[in-house]
Amino acid sequence: MATMIIEGDRTKAASGKTYEVRNPATGEVVDEVPAGGPADVDKAAQAAAKAFTTWSKLPANQRREILHKASQHMLSKVEEIAPVLTKEQGKTLLESRLEARRFGENVGWFADLADKIHGQYVRLPDLTTYGLVVRRPIGVCGAIVPWNFPLTLAANKVAPAIAAGNTVVLKPASTTPLATLLCIEALIEGGLPEGVVNVVLGQATGEAIVAHPLIRKIALTGSTPTGKRVMAKASENLKKVTLELGGSDPCIVLDDADLEGAARAISVGRFFNCGQQCLSTKRLYVQEGAYDALMEKLVARAAKLKPGNGLDKDSRMGPMHTETQRAEVEAQLKDAVDRGAKVVFGGGRPEGSEYERGWFIEPTIVENVPDGARMWTEEVFGPALPVRKIKDLDEGLRLANDTQFGLGSSIWTANMAAAHRAVQELEAGYTWVNSIVIAHDELPFGGTKQSGFGKEHGVEAFLQYTEEKSVVYGGV
Ligand code: NAD
Repeated sequence: MATMIIEGDRTKAASGKTYEVRNPATGEVVDEVPAGGPADVDKAAQAAAKAFTTWSKLPANQRREILHKASQHMLSKVEEIAPVLTKEQGKTLLESRLEARRFGENVGWFADLADKIHGQYVRLPDLTTYGLVVRRPIGVCGAIVPWNFPLTLAANKVAPAIAAGNTVVLKPASTTPLATLLCIEALIEGGLPEGVVNVVLGQATGEAIVAHPLIRKIALTGSTPTGKRVMAKASENLKKVTLELGGSDPCIVLDDADLEGAARAISVGRFFNCGQQCLSTKRLYVQEGAYDALMEKLVARAAKLKPGNGLDKDSRMGPMHTETQRAEVEAQLKDAVDRGAKVVFGGGRPEGSEYERGWFIEPTIVENVPDGARMWTEEVFGPALPVRKIKDLDEGLRLANDTQFGLGSSIWTANMAAAHRAVQELEAGYTWVNSIVIAHDELPFGGTKQSGFGKEHGVEAFLQYTEEKSVVYGGV
């Protein structure tokens, strides 16, 4: 049975309650897990607060070295961790390996910033005084993670937090705790002191983290409704919040685009991780002259994505993570079809005995989806892509921005002026021009509008795990 990680303890829930984690491809039980609650979060927060007193005072170059060693050790365990991620989440082994590697690389990337925190020297009017602006870690930080990318989204929070000298209480999604536990355990084996990162498990621990008075900052990745609840609750103690929420990323393809490149990027953008991605190509707007050729290429690519158990070598797309998630995508598709949309590829569940016990779905492409359909107005968190023909860039930009979300966006065109205009006008935290939708460590990532605020990745994320303090030295 899995246990929580709280300081030196590998512990069950205080209540003694447990729940089962099941494999989305087979329905089999992968492990039994403690169903923690407020008492466990309290213990973890106390442990993190205790660890903060030493971790935050460690010379920054020592923190950097410890994190590098720990991340290297974790990276040596990728082959052990990846199958566990596939069993609990459903994604293919290739996707799990990539994700597990990203966890270790992310810790290494932020480790390099640990000793590069700078302040300011400020001259003051009275020359016998001067001012400084110093940056300090915040304290205990709460990290709340969803199930679609359990490892990368945990690393996005844990890595900058601990590199800056903070300590963490981490809550994985209740359905995907197992690979995360292995990653944190590997960091500890690799030299990260106990108590710096504590892991609590179970649905009820999320609210308890947000409410706990010792936890000073909350970083959440999740849906927009969850973000609103977390922000409201965090306001009671005026906690800092970073909210990485839902998205419905538009992609515009103009007539002059490299259609081969666009088709590849759109296919990865929509179907990687069985479409369960926040940054993704969720609405596609294609100019008339490129429409037929691009559709042909997209259909050809979708046809190669054989659904299957993520552990099987020939699977190109795992199942959806839960029955509820699949039902939601199917309902969104049905809504579009009922309103007159045409399914160009997929649209159902794959048939065969190997698919009977899992939450499999076909990669799906639909066109003629009318205005107001759920596929345009809601986030589609699965492998189904609505496509619409547009006359020109004006129409593409108008439709692209006609959404409550503002996470990512992309444009494919050979025209620099058109690309530049899209960069200026697309209402999103990220715009890719002729490039595959992948978040880079070096660039700050975060949404606008109802996709949230605050940044992960980049120096910006690191600085958000510090607080500025002004200092006046007098009598000098
Ligand atoms: P979710 O909002 O249901 O849950 C996310 C996490 O929050 C889970 O750990 C959950 O237990 C916890 N949680 C739920 N209610 C809570 C509360 N009231 N207080 C504290 N914690 C609470 O999201 P999900 O279904 O796990 O993930 C899918 C969603 O995440 C999608 O909307 C997707 O777009 C979004 N997402 C966003 C990003 C991004 O970076 N912007 C990345 C990945 C996923």
